[in-house]
Amino acid sequence: NQSLASFDPEVAAAIDAELGRQRDTLEMIASENFAPLGVLQAQGSVMTNKYAEGYPGKRYYGGCEFVDVTETLAIDRLKALFDAEYANVQPHSGAQANAAAMHALIKPGDTILGLDLAHGGHLTHGMRLNFSGKLYDVVAYHVREGDNLVDMEEVRRLANEHRPALIIAGWSAYPRQLDFAEFRAIADEVGAKLMVDMAHFAGLVAAGLHPSPLPHAHVVTSTTHKTLGGPRGGVVMTNDPEIGKKIRSAVFPGQQGGPLEHVIAAKAVAFKMAAQPEFADRQQRTVEGAKLLAERLTADDMTQVGVNVLTGGTDVHLVLVDLRESSLDGQQAEDRLHEVGITVNRNAVPNDPRPPMITSGLRIGTPALATRGFGADEFREVADIIAEALQPEVADLDGLRKRVAALTERFPLYPSLSPLA
Ligand code: PLP
Repeated sequence: NQSLASFDPEVAAAIDAELGRQRDTLEMIASENFAPLGVLQAQGSVMTNKYAEGYPGKRYYGGCEFVDVTETLAIDRLKALFDAEYANVQPHSGAQANAAAMHALIKPGDTILGLDLAHGGHLTHGMRLNFSGKLYDVVAYHVREGDNLVDMEEVRRLANEHRPALIIAGWSAYPRQLDFAEFRAIADEVGAKLMVDMAHFAGLVAAGLHPSPLPHAHVVTSTTHKTLGGPRGGVVMTNDPEIGKKIRSAVFPGQQGGPLEHVIAAKAVAFKMAAQPEFADRQQRTVEGAKLLAERLTADDMTQVGVNVLTGGTDVHLVLVDLRESSLDGQQAEDRLHEVGITVNRNAVPNDPRPPMITSGLRIGTPALATRGFGADEFREVADIIAEALQPEVADLDGLRKRVAALTERFPLYPSLSPLA
């Protein structure tokens, strides 16, 4: 019963240092967020000790009466949040949610049609080295060269040509909304199932700021830790009871053994939070912040130094910066922002002329800062700091660092957490 700090000071010190890093920098990785204290407490609880193969009321282990309570709460809250008939909260991650959904809907060797990774898709939508690329025959759709929007004509043409068993709509790096009704119409035309992976924008859907895919898709998958702001994990939903049964058996016993009941308890907490008015307000600030950032980065002084924004703006929680005409490449821009205390990730732009480890773009997201409490004024200041940092030469890096520090100090993160070591 030794504390972490006394048994393992190396791990305790690294956790403390990570807390310090999160507190002292501006987190703008679009797929990250800060899980609230209640979520951290549930996730760090004794529910990690429990084996609970099966589902609430139908377990293969004794002693499941309390994990049944939390898993049932998680399921019911998720169904209510997204108006879904069936929800499975057991997938350990977004990738596993996608694997389970595909396992439920199609067979190895079937054709899938998903957004190309280099154009904003996810690994699990058919990348060559991923299970999705190995088990299924992959056809990829793209964004259009001129406006960088998903090319629905190409989706329709490829669907008719290749007759996929599954069409995947969803993205990891795309700043606009997809037309789910149109995706479904194309799926119906060719007899395919439609899976929407809303991992990135689920929080916006929950807040009513983005159309819901539930009325259109056969299956909807998501992560729970991005805009949704919960613990790291995945979920699958559907409105079709037959597909619901298939998902149930695809997750367990098809994909996984014991569910992570501590994470499921934390998911229940996160779904309760996502139904509160404060959550909707936070998502509103998230989208507004991304719009302010896009506005600042499309101003004349940025265009003059070759900094552009893909699609000219955003409707969601992220901005894709296009550095093809800038003297800074993606790596240099990421490093420059890191130097002033802003964390982002470099990201290939469609048809990127630079290699994948360097890239010509940045993906910048606002969810974590909105969770921290940032509103329009703070996002304007952050946008201005980023705009200055992306100039070819920065005269006063130290000044930018001080402006970042002023923001982090005004919005303390996890004020009640004390160091472990
Ligand atoms: N789906 C999309 C669209 C994603 O962006 C991601 C993660 O980045 C995933 C699935 C996978 O989630 P995880 O990292 O939890 O496996």
